[in-house]
Formats: sequence, structure tokens, C-alpha cells
Amino acid sequence: MDVPVERVLVAVRVRPLSDKENKKNAFSVVQALPHEPKVLSVAGKGYAFDHIFTDICEQASVYEESVRPLVKKFCAGFNCAVITYGHTGTGKTYTIGTDSKLYEDDSAGIISRVVKDILSGNNTMDSKVMVEISFMEIYNEEVYDLLTCQPTKLIVQVFSVQSLKRMQVTTYEEVLHHLEFGGANRHTRATALNAHSSRSHAIFTVYYHQIFGDHTVQSRLDLVDLAGSEGVRHTGSRGVALNEAKNINTGLLHLRNVISVLSKNTEDHIPYRSSTLTTVLKDSLSRESCVTVIVCISPSNLDITKTVTTLQFAEEAK
Ligand code: ADP
Ligand code: MG
Repeated sequence: MDVPVERVLVAVRVRPLSDKENKKNAFSVVQALPHEPKVLSVAGKGYAFDHIFTDICEQASVYEESVRPLVKKFCAGFNCAVITYGHTGTGKTYTIGTDSKLYEDDSAGIISRVVKDILSGNNTMDSKVMVEISFMEIYNEEVYDLLTCQPTKLIVQVFSVQSLKRMQVTTYEEVLHHLEFGGANRHTRATALNAHSSRSHAIFTVYYHQIFGDHTVQSRLDLVDLAGSEGVRHTGSRGVALNEAKNINTGLLHLRNVISVLSKNTEDHIPYRSSTLTTVLKDSLSRESCVTVIVCISPSNLDITKTVTTLQFAEEAK
């Protein structure tokens, strides 16, 4: 099996201006440079990425270019992760597709496309295949199972989440059902805790077991919808909000540190245990796995400060 040279890819996706922004006469300050397709210019400064998806790129091409190659690796036995990062309202959920409204047709996000691709069987070699999924949420450093009737708080052991429910799936429809069930749990919990879903990380995981006669090859693919990155370096919050922001900071900053060690491909210690997020993702953020980070940004002049913060964070990860 060939291991890819580049294990960490960082892409950027620019969402279109919203109706609200158009009404305020906002304009785009983001531009993909024509002669350098992989440099994004934001208010005159250039940022380099492995892929750039402008506001006219559709869900299908984001999947084909930045995720499909990873699915091939995943089906060949490598652990993988696709992570969306950015401020609230920049398109993380739209891109990864954890929201039940976004499952069908052209607007289907990454989760739906991954599952369709895997269950169609095109990627399997000569083996018997078993596919499972799980769906969890990390809120204030605690892990909750979204596939149980009452969302349960789980105990994180050394690099595994104790008794996280895994469901075996054979059809696309079954997966959509679980996704919808988990999404509803997420919203109920968010209301009960007076916390918006943008304050928690959601992780949808696909497990792939291939049985070749007497041996099994197993891999996992983590599809991660991160909490809004406005928590990072934001110190204005108080009380509950401050605690949430601190925990989001912890998760996102440690995630960046882990990804940074992986992309530099050095022998440095990888600080997985510093946060719940990196602990839970340890297997798909190893030196043997393939990771794609999709950085989501707004094109608007009104969001420029946030956008620059996001792009700096992405640069530090690389
Ligand atoms: P986030 O999860 O980062 O908070 P969302 O995914 O909820 O952001 O996106 C915010 C809004 O923008 C939603 O109404 C979503 O449908 C819309 N949106 C985001 N990205 C795109 C896109 N590429 N094309 C069209 N609409 C988008
Ligand atoms: Mg979201």
C-alpha cells in the first residue's frame, strides 16, 4: 500500500455573500489569484493553500477535489480525518453536512457523499466489508453520545471513548436516519444547556472493516464539524460563556498544535492528551493517517478581522 507523501492538506473555502450582507452593501475582499491558483488574496495579502474553493465552487467539486482521494486511502486501510474550521456563519456545517436539512441532492455535504461513495462498494477490493458509524459531540471538554435516546455523557479513557454506540449500516438511508437522530439530539441538548451548537464540536465517524480470509483490515474516518473559532483569543466573555470559550480555545489550539507537528513530519512529541478533542481524534491524527482541514471564511469586508485571524491560524497549522 502506498502511503501519501503529503499527509496534511489545508484547503480554504469562501462562502458566497449572504442576502443580509448584500443588503448592507458589503463587498468581497477575497480573491483567488489567477496566475497562482493556490494563493488566496485577502485585502491585498496572499495566503497559500493546497486547495482554494471560491464562492462559486459547488459541494460536489469540494468533495471530488479535497475529500475523494482521502476516501480511497480510508478504504485502503488508512485512518483519515476531514475537519472544518472557521468562525460561526462561515459554512462549516454546510460543508461537512452534519445538519439534517443539507442531506440531499446538489447541496449534500461531505458526510452524505462519503457514505454514498463507501456504500456503493466501488472502493472495495476482494474482501467482505462491514461498515459502522458513530456520532458524538464534545461540549465543555465532555463527550456526549448522540445516537442514544438520552444523550449520554461518556468517559474518555486513554484514547478511546468508553461505550460510544456504533451502528452497523448497509444503506445510505440508514445513515441519514442516524445523522438526523443525532442532529435532533444535538439541538435538544443545545437548548437544554442554553448553548448553541456552534459552541460544541460534532464528530461523525465511519468505521470500515475489511475481512480478507483470516485477517481483517480496519480503518476509521472522522468527519469533524468544529465549534466556531471565535472562542480563540476572544477574552470579552464572562461566566458560562467564558468557560465555553476557554474550552473551545483549549480544543482548537491543541488541535492546531497536533496538526502542526504532523504536517512538519518531525519526530516531535504529539500532544494528544492536552484536550478532549485531540484525545478522541488520536487515531485519525497519527503519523500514518491522512488529514484534510477545510478552513471556511466569509468574503465580506465586514468580517475582515475575523477572516485574517482564521487564515493566520491556518498558516500556523501548516
Ligand atoms: P457555520 O457552521 O460555520 O456556523 P453554516 O454552515 O451554518 O456556518 O453556514 C451559514 C449560512 O451560510 C447557512 O445559511 C448556509 O446555508 C450558508 N452557506 C454556507 N456556505 C455556503 C456555500 N458555499 N454556498 C451557499 N450557502 C452557504
Ligand atoms: Mg455550524
